[in-house]
Amino acid sequence: MLVKGVPLDSGVIEGEQLTSGLRENPAQENLELAVVSRAVQQTEIERQAPPPLIKQPELIITPDRDARFRPPLELTTELLDTIAQRTSLAKALPATPVIVAHPDDEAIGAGGLLAGLPDAVIAHVTDGAPRDERYAQSKGFLTREEYARARRREVVNALAHVGITPDRCRGLGYVDGEASNHLLELVFDVAHLIDEIRPDIVLTHPYEGGHSDHDATAFAVQLACGVLRRDRAPAPLVLELTSYHNYSGTRRVFEFLPFIGTYHQTIRLTASEKLLKQRMYDEFVSQQHVLERFPINVEKFRPAPRYLFTSPPHEGQLDYERFCSLITGAQWRRNAEKALETLRTRRHRFVQTFNRRRKPRIGR
Ligand SMILES: [Zn+2]
Repeated sequence: MLVKGVPLDSGVIEGEQLTSGLRENPAQENLELAVVSRAVQQTEIERQAPPPLIKQPELIITPDRDARFRPPLELTTELLDTIAQRTSLAKALPATPVIVAHPDDEAIGAGGLLAGLPDAVIAHVTDGAPRDERYAQSKGFLTREEYARARRREVVNALAHVGITPDRCRGLGYVDGEASNHLLELVFDVAHLIDEIRPDIVLTHPYEGGHSDHDATAFAVQLACGVLRRDRAPAPLVLELTSYHNYSGTRRVFEFLPFIGTYHQTIRLTASEKLLKQRMYDEFVSQQHVLERFPINVEKFRPAPRYLFTSPPHEGQLDYERFCSLITGAQWRRNAEKALETLRTRRHRFVQTFNRRRKPRIGR
């Protein structure tokens, strides 16, 4: 584990997204201890540092200065280097959850990486089928449910190419396009999943206005980590994969929306990784028109920035506002505000929920 053993309370922040993965396992010290001690030292330095330039998000509950945490740069750099090298990736980051909105987002953002992570757990927030059955019918299916089953088959077949078995492919069951109407429940669902797996890192979407479900997923993962940290439960470091967003009127893919103070790692896929990724793409028969816009030669990852989810991710029209009539950015942010307000006032319930130490069922 790259970040195993970092003291729990050093990773606590209230409602922000980043922290270390933490388990109480004193074994395997040595190398890991070096990483850990650096992390602890840097955490101490971090607490004494002047206020950061980036405005702090007001995500959940009361601000707790002692609990505020940012992962040390050295730690995130080391993680990204491990990902870039891909050697012993499965050993370093077993059972890494990839929590994305739709069946195919994992292949687009991290198909090549998944080739080295057969124990990864892929969680889809939605089943990929919109409520309006005309959409399913336009794809040749009679009902929404039939279309959802087809999308599940596609992603299971795609993940088989990189050795990920169907039991490691979880569906949270929200309707495509409606995740942002259920942010509170989604935060709980994701928190339970993370608490079950106890990973060091989690991969998810950036908050960038590309798709309302993508933003809902980013929100849920980061708030779930905040909830877990607040209750002194292990929470992973959040890394992001690329998706898409509106960039001056054009849908930009495979790039992160710039965010001050962030950096990313670009991975150039090897020939065999590209072949695997292409095979994954080929399994998504119902999504070929979408996937053909996403190249297979590189993947990019970065530590998640500290977003303020009650503000738009960028100025101007969001990408989903151009194409989706289900929700506007303003409505999305109202939903986020409402969910945050509830999270602020329901702490006791979380403590009861997350203080139970459940045995991880996956990969450990
Ligand atoms: Zn998607």
